[in-house]
Amino acid sequence: MADPNLAGALSSVPGILFKQIMSVWWFWLIIIILGLLVKIIPFIINKKSDDEKSQEKCPKCGGDLIEKRKYGRFLACSNYPKCRFTRKID
Ligand SMILES: [Zn+2]
Repeated sequence: MADPNLAGALSSVPGILFKQIMSVWWFWLIIIILGLLVKIIPFIINKKSDDEKSQEKCPKCGGDLIEKRKYGRFLACSNYPKCRFTRKID
């Protein structure tokens, strides 16, 4: 009753579908990874070379102190320019 050729073609459909889904899946995975990298890389570079939050509090206004690394290591108040407290780190 069933055409053997048609049955063969139908049985290979899940395989083709699976391959197509997998190729699309990888495509989207790469897009997602690239999108994440574009967002994460500047954050990592920024964090390594620039400011880092310190555990200490500003003695002038009680704000958070941020460790600046651009021009040597020093602590600066996060409320700058309202509060201009800075302190060198030895
Ligand atoms: Zn301050």
